[in-house]
Amino acid sequence: MNALLTDSVLVLNRNWLAVRICTVRRALVLLYREMAQVVTPEYETYDFQTWCELSRYADSRVLHTPRFQIKVPDVIKLIGYTRTPPLDVKFNRRNIFLRDNFTCQYCGRKAQRDELTIDHVIPRSRGGKSTWENVVIACIECNAKKGDSLPQEKGLQLRRKPKKPHWLITCRRFFTPEKKSVWQKFIDHAYWNVILDE
Ligand SMILES: [Zn+2]
Repeated sequence: MNALLTDSVLVLNRNWLAVRICTVRRALVLLYREMAQVVTPEYETYDFQTWCELSRYADSRVLHTPRFQIKVPDVIKLIGYTRTPPLDVKFNRRNIFLRDNFTCQYCGRKAQRDELTIDHVIPRSRGGKSTWENVVIACIECNAKKGDSLPQEKGLQLRRKPKKPHWLITCRRFFTPEKKSVWQKFIDHAYWNVILDE
């Protein structure tokens, strides 16, 4: 039972936007307090009571309590009127590595962290800023080749335009194959492909 309670649930806000991940335990509290509804892969929504009734026919991932049994949801949707924006992604080294998936954005080589560097596309010496749009992961070779130049000056080309990533990149550890197949329906396709780009 405990393992199921700490499993993860995707949370949508009332506009169906994926805003965070919570534990099953938290999701059940929200459902019970009528602050959220269960969302099925078919986009149907159920309140706590109805979901408990349906859970009688479920044969897996069911939590049993003395008063009811409930199937663990994969996705819930908040129903309150409070504005719940998606989580923010901090601009830091760790998240830059996660965004670019430990892959040199010039040659496409994936490598260990100590073989990679953070490159300013427009070099700092030319006024380039430290922002999501101007930093990428580069291997040591590409970084050395580029030096203080612009990529095109050294025949290098970015594999994709750098931008602020989706908050889900920091949650990759939660992506079991089952979660992937259900959650991806609720996440913008462009983002999803970037998140899972491997
Ligand atoms: Zn490279």
